[in-house]
Amino acid sequence: MVDFSFTEEQELFRSAIREWCQKNLPLEKIRDMDSKGEIPHEILRSMGEMGLLVMTSPQEHGGTGADWVTACIAAEELGYADVSIALPVLWLVESSWGYVVDRYCSEQVRDECIRKAFKGDAFIGIASTESGGGSDVAAFKSTAKKVGNEWVLNGEKMYISGTEEAKKLGGGYFVIARTSPAPADAMHKGMTGFYLPINAKGVEVNKRFEDMGRMAISTGGFKMENVRVPDAYRIGEVDKGFYLTMEGFDNARILIAAVCVGAARRALDVGMDYIKERKAFGRPIGKFEGIQFELADDWAQLEALRSLTYRTAWMQDKRYKEGKFSALEVSRMIAACKLIAPHFAFDVYKHVMIWMGAYGYTKECPLEMGLRGIMSYCVGAEGTSNIQRTVIARELLGKEYIPYK
Ligand SMILES: Cc1cc2nc3c(=O)[nH]c(=O)nc-3n(C[C@H](O)[C@H](O)[C@H](O)COP(=O)(O)OP(=O)(O)OC[C@H]3O[C@@H](n4cnc5c(N)ncnc54)[C@H](O)[C@@H]3O)c2cc1C
Repeated sequence: MVDFSFTEEQELFRSAIREWCQKNLPLEKIRDMDSKGEIPHEILRSMGEMGLLVMTSPQEHGGTGADWVTACIAAEELGYADVSIALPVLWLVESSWGYVVDRYCSEQVRDECIRKAFKGDAFIGIASTESGGGSDVAAFKSTAKKVGNEWVLNGEKMYISGTEEAKKLGGGYFVIARTSPAPADAMHKGMTGFYLPINAKGVEVNKRFEDMGRMAISTGGFKMENVRVPDAYRIGEVDKGFYLTMEGFDNARILIAAVCVGAARRALDVGMDYIKERKAFGRPIGKFEGIQFELADDWAQLEALRSLTYRTAWMQDKRYKEGKFSALEVSRMIAACKLIAPHFAFDVYKHVMIWMGAYGYTKECPLEMGLRGIMSYCVGAEGTSNIQRTVIARELLGKEYIPYK
């Protein structure tokens, strides 16, 4: 039996988060956050009270145990409400990587970070990318060496979301580092995941980038110089960190797709209001087929993306709860969502801004914030489009078609 409806609980949840967004994220607030470059702490606290932060973590750990379909509902509504995309970014980074940390970490890490992150009183993010590159995870240079019951971390991480937030609120990152030499044909082996508190001795946040968009969340870089962390900060098994990193990327990518669905829906709503009002040649411009056809094309593709996204989130739930689909099958579907969604949302923003003529090019029009924000996912935050293509092609053709190991 195929049932495409949301449960009553999920519909109620959507109404509740929509109401929360209308109250807490009016356009003036988004503009204020975008210009000040900061998300107010009270917004995070309020999200924590609603049970929205790291919401897929199980109730026995203190989370709400939401499924991934429900998390996508939250992502879609946040993507609709915050046109700048900054808050959805912070929320989804925490939801996806916080979930992985919480799933594999010790009680100590849960107490020191995750339980605070549920309340908005700590930040948890991902620090995988290095200055030498982000796509080739297996080639990362950061190292971790076991000394007694501690690990000593060295290396440098770059283009990392939330460095300023982590410094201010406390918390830290899921960091991946090499712990064993790897066979030349399987470089992904021998890497381990760790929880790295940003305020640990030997961590120096030495960079804040001036991004073009999503201004209310920082992007920075940090060095790790002989940072000593207890073995209790190790996430998952020694030398198996690559797989946890892929799990985190999957979680983040499906939420990105849902954020982009919400963002594109918002742009179309703003656009439809505009083309019904704006007149040219004696009639609303919405009466011209040249505009109607683009609207219809965008709407049809949005519905297709929305279905793909929620179906994939449903598969992700089946994978986690029932083992119904393999991780690789789900990864391929998620890669398809991440491949399509940001470029599609970007195009919808661009189309609507062009319907708006000169007004669309001004900062009075809210959509320019969206265009700048969504671009981060087009260029590659949480994995570039070509990397999504390699994930899909690998599953279609077989592992022997990976041109590198
Ligand atoms: C705003 C923003 C926030 C970010 N936040 C984080 C964060 O919180 N944590 C974190 O760890 N990282 C973060 N990143 C980094 C992001 O994960 C990387 O940008 C991404 O993984 C790509 O790495 P790179 O930028 O080094 O590009 P590269 O890996 O150098 O790739 C450059 C180009 O080569 C292409 N390419 C690479 N390999 C292949 C291949 N095999 N086949 C075809 N083409 C290929 C890529 O698609 C890309 O177009 C963020 C990035 C941005 C823009």
